[in-house]
Parts: sequence; structure tokens; C-alpha cells
Amino acid sequence: DREVDHADSRALIDLARSGDVGVAVPDYTGLQAYIASGGYQLLERVRAGETSTDMIIETMQNAGLRGLGGAGFPAGRKWSIVRSYPGPRLMSINGDEGEPGTFKDRIYLEKDPHRTFEGALIAAHAVEAERIYFYMRDEYPAVLHILRSEIAALEKAGIVTPGFIELRRGAGAYICGEESAMLESIEGKRGLPRHRPPYIAEVGLFGRPTLNHNVETLWWVRDIVEKGAEWFAEQGKPDHPGVRSWSVSGRVREPGMKLAPAGITVRELIDDYCGGMAEGHEFKAYLPGGASGGVLPASMGDIPLDFGGKLAEQGAFVGSHAVVIFSQEDNIRDVTINLLKFFKHESCGQCTPCREGTEKMVTLLKKQNKPDEAAIRDLEMVMRDASICGLGQAAPNPVNHLLTHFQDDL
Ligand code: SF4
Repeated sequence: DREVDHADSRALIDLARSGDVGVAVPDYTGLQAYIASGGYQLLERVRAGETSTDMIIETMQNAGLRGLGGAGFPAGRKWSIVRSYPGPRLMSINGDEGEPGTFKDRIYLEKDPHRTFEGALIAAHAVEAERIYFYMRDEYPAVLHILRSEIAALEKAGIVTPGFIELRRGAGAYICGEESAMLESIEGKRGLPRHRPPYIAEVGLFGRPTLNHNVETLWWVRDIVEKGAEWFAEQGKPDHPGVRSWSVSGRVREPGMKLAPAGITVRELIDDYCGGMAEGHEFKAYLPGGASGGVLPASMGDIPLDFGGKLAEQGAFVGSHAVVIFSQEDNIRDVTINLLKFFKHESCGQCTPCREGTEKMVTLLKKQNKPDEAAIRDLEMVMRDASICGLGQAAPNPVNHLLTHFQDDL
């Protein structure tokens, strides 16, 4: 399998290098069309000092905009923290989108890339960043093509100075979606997560205070400032401000990216947004947040999906909002082994609990008879407590849920 993977990666890299992206570039809103619809007027007002940075930060805080790459850190607060450290400062945009089941950022960039650019330029202005590094995964060749063209268009139009936005291509490592590993990769090194503290807001890219944001988080900045914090916040369920982009896949009738409230339940997502379960399939289980967020049974299908709260009480999280639906056709032990094999493959290998733990966990889960639960629980604790980054800490989530909720599948 590995050899096939590598052959595919090489083919993609060759295509990208040749400039022939090998896929159709979708119709998208280019610079002129974006400007014609009022785009970059907000940026102009911000740069002219007519709309103050403090007002924008306050608006984002009132809107409840959170980091939508997975961590959910309040966006406005992040800007304030980065600004509090002495310059010069930098900014990075995380377009790695490697969490299994997640595809929302690709959709936004393939439709309306300048909305993310404008949000990024406003953020860069707010923290006085000297340069923006846009890290984009190589598996999205159409997006890379769009970004290259539109950065050139921005430079030609004088909206940014040449080189202000620098595009950096990832090479297929899941761990490079982890923000400190991504910064290492941008610096030209192996993508190994850093120890924290210090956090990247203080010591980030090339040792400078760095503001890092996910593509979608920046995509919302213009709308929130122009339409108001309440407009955004009121689209969520009570106590769950905001609207979210859910990547829904699996055994549903109409999978895809769904714009739906924060705090929605998986049952509502299936019934109200995905046309119900696929023909012949009954709802059995779901991943609330890609590979890392755990796997919950249908009996927990009424938990509000959001950062923290009742989901966290179950040892699960919503992460990048990738929801995968399973039915009676799916054995959750097989699902869990699949997820753990993914983590084993993608572990960067620098710390033992994760490097050895993911491999050992796969072996334990694959044992023919009922797995050794005591050994699994022991290993789970070691991985959570002693891994450097979120990959090793979150990898045991689905295993924990398998043992707790899916004994029939063992
Ligand atoms: Fe690397 Fe895993 Fe350690 Fe993270 S937890 S630093 S992915 S070995």
C-alpha cells in the first residue's frame, strides 16, 4: 500500500511542478468579480484607519468566532495575544486540511479565495505582520493553481506588495497540519511538532510572534465585520454562537459540506441536512470530529456538537467538524483499527508513546479473540499523558469509545 501511496504522491508532485495541474480548475470568483461585489473595501477602510483594529477584534469576540481548523481557540483573543508581543511579527495560514473526512476549506478556496485573502490581510494588518505564509497541501492541485493565480493578481493590482503573501506547499504529511509542525515545514525542516511553551503567538515562525489561522476562520472575517457580530452569533443554537461548515460523509443519502448551526446534533445533521440515512442503512455510530474526535454510538446522537461541553464530557471533540456516519454494515472495531493504522502511518515518530503506542495499539486491536482490554487501557493512558502533541494524545479516543460503547463489535 505504501508503494502505491508514494507513487501517487510523486505523480501529483510531478504534475504540480509541470504547471499542468492535471485536474479541471473549477469556476471561482476571481479578483475582478470579488472587487465588483464590494470585496476589499473593508480592507481599504481598515488600512485607512476608518475601521479600527480594536473594533474588529471586539466584533469577532462578540460573534464567538473560533479557530475552525480544530482547536477552537477564540479568534479575536488570538489577535490580541499576538499583538501583545513585541514585533516584528509574522502570519501563517494553515491550508493543510489533512483531518480525515474534512473538505470544507477546499470548497471555500475553490469558490471564493479572496474572501480568505481579505480576512488574512485584515488580520495581518491588525497584528502588523510583515508577511503571510500560506501553507497549502499538495493534494489540492486545483487550489494551488487558484492561489498562485490570485496572489499574482493581488500583486498586480497593488493590493499587496510582491512577496507579501508567500505560498508554501505541503507534501502530504498529516502532522504538518499541527501548527508548530507546519511552521517547521515552512522553515524548510522536517515537520516535527514543537514543545510548548513557548506558544507560537510568542515564538513562532523563524522565532517571531506568529498569528496562525485556518482557511475557514479567515473566510468569515469580512462577513462578520460587515454584517455584525449578532448576524453570525444568532445562526447558532442557544449557547452555541455561530454557523459552522460541516463536512458530512458516510452512510447518508446526501453527503457534502453543510452550513449548519454550531451546537447542532448529529441526528439533525442527518435528517435535516443530509436527506436521512442512505437506503437500507440504519444509523449506528458516528465520528463527531474526523479521526481524532472519537467514535460515538447512535444513542448519543442528541449531544450538541461544539467545542467542549457535553461532547468533551464523553471524551470526544468536534475538531474540524468532519462528521462520518456509520450503519449496521460497519463494524466499529474495524473502523477503529482503520483509524489507528492511519495514526500509526502519520505519527512523526519523535516521541516513543505515540510512535510505538499507535503500532502496539493496532496489534492489540487486531488480535483474533477478544482484545486484552487491560493492556489497551494501560497503553491509552501512557499515550495521552506522555505524547508531545495532539496526534498521540487523541489517537486513543476511538479505542476508548470502542471499549466503552461497542462491546458487541469486539
Ligand atoms: Fe510526533 Fe506523535 Fe509525538 Fe506528535 S505525539 S510529536 S506526532 S510522535
